[in-house]
Amino acid sequence: MCKNCETNPVILLTNNTKGLCKSCFFRYFERKFNKTIAQFKLISPNERIGVAISGGKDSLTLLYLLNKLKSKKRFTIEALLIDEGIKGYRDNTIKDAKKFCKELGVKLNIVSYRDEFGYPLDMMIKKLKMKPCSICGVFRRYLINRYSRKLKFNKIATGHNLDDEVQSVMMNQFRNNPEISARLGPITGIKDNKKFIRRIKPLYLLSEKEVTTYSYLKNFKLKFCECPYNTEAYRINVREFINKFEEKYPGTKHSIINSFLEILPDIKEKFRNAEEIRYCKKCSEPCSNEICKACEIRSKI
Ligand SMILES: [Zn+2]
Ligand SMILES: [Zn+2]
Repeated sequence: MCKNCETNPVILLTNNTKGLCKSCFFRYFERKFNKTIAQFKLISPNERIGVAISGGKDSLTLLYLLNKLKSKKRFTIEALLIDEGIKGYRDNTIKDAKKFCKELGVKLNIVSYRDEFGYPLDMMIKKLKMKPCSICGVFRRYLINRYSRKLKFNKIATGHNLDDEVQSVMMNQFRNNPEISARLGPITGIKDNKKFIRRIKPLYLLSEKEVTTYSYLKNFKLKFCECPYNTEAYRINVREFINKFEEKYPGTKHSIINSFLEILPDIKEKFRNAEEIRYCKKCSEPCSNEICKACEIRSKI
């Protein structure tokens, strides 16, 4: 039975004993989304918010909810999609994204690897001896930051949910990478910087299961397809491990995030000045070396 109104539930809550019906779940989900934005001060009035979308359930849920909230909180949104050039995957999700943006009346900006770097990812991996995810990790972040600036976004929102963050936190623990954890959290960066557009994660406290349920019940017509290059074996193992643990000990994921949020200000403070920001000699984007990672990879193609 639904915890609030005694009708049939659509989802069980973390403790697995009670659930929520469809309308109570929508209310719960949207409240948590809005509360996250308010609690972590993710958006201020009159800001121009870019929404990084992939065409998947997380980013479309994010776009839908920001669009719903924008007039009440007085900010504007535009979508940004990076087209890596992955046949049979990205071309399908672009269609979904275009249709979705059109229905909401949100402007969609598309930036492609082919236009920016000369080749689609499908061709890059034939030329480079690198894992596709390593190339994308660099190029996506590079283009999102560069175009967020060009499009004059104050911040860029991404569809990362609770599960994504829990996985990243644990991966950094297992691999002893606290300086990478310092860049996590619901909002990146310590203060505004002209060259680095701050990234915000309004789905931070909502689980994968909750986002999936929400997008399904909202009838977002999506082909639930995954990137064919999803080869991040380490992350997949961590995800399975945490899911098993959550099943056995409900509440584990929330505990990990809550304790992480507790220590995050200290980690950020510690690594605040660890890396001085320099500017790439080739493209003048911010980076930590003479030449940025994107230009380094580009020179090998
Ligand atoms: Zn109910
Ligand atoms: Zn560069």
